[in-house]
Amino acid sequence: MTTIKASCPSCGDVELTPPQVRLVVCSVKAWSYYAFTCGSCLEEVRKPAGRDVVALLISGGVIAEPWSVPAEALEEHTGPALSYDDVRDSEYGYGWRIDVLRDGTKIVYHAGLWRGYNSLYVRRLEDKTSIIVLSNKVNWSFRNIGRMFGIIDSKDIDAAELGGN
Ligand SMILES: [Zn+2]
Repeated sequence: MTTIKASCPSCGDVELTPPQVRLVVCSVKAWSYYAFTCGSCLEEVRKPAGRDVVALLISGGVIAEPWSVPAEALEEHTGPALSYDDVRDSEYGYGWRIDVLRDGTKIVYHAGLWRGYNSLYVRRLEDKTSIIVLSNKVNWSFRNIGRMFGIIDSKDIDAAELGGN
């Protein structure tokens, strides 16, 4: 198997196999990147991938993931700043999912998934409270956003419920 030499900003030179490298080729060429988890410090290292790097990694057996940026995301906006209500019907804006909880709480959030790891970032707009969940074992109960804010607000949450789903 091909050995790919890269460098970690903290640890220096590292050797990787193609499956250890994530290559994202963006429709906006300057946004293409490759990433890997350093085997020494376990940090994710992400670096820009120009045309030559993309070609080199693909020739080494790295599978490229296409990333197509919608044209409207690149449009320049004129006029007043958009508000939460302007983009709410689209359920997505500025890279955030937009939602309203059953109790009327306005939130923005986004989840992530990467090789067995899951994350969730939720922000309650009224008081700018944010919850960040990083996990390597997920049963998806962490997506019960209202309950997570209930825990933070200490609203009728029984400690026994914390272990449940
Ligand atoms: Zn490192």
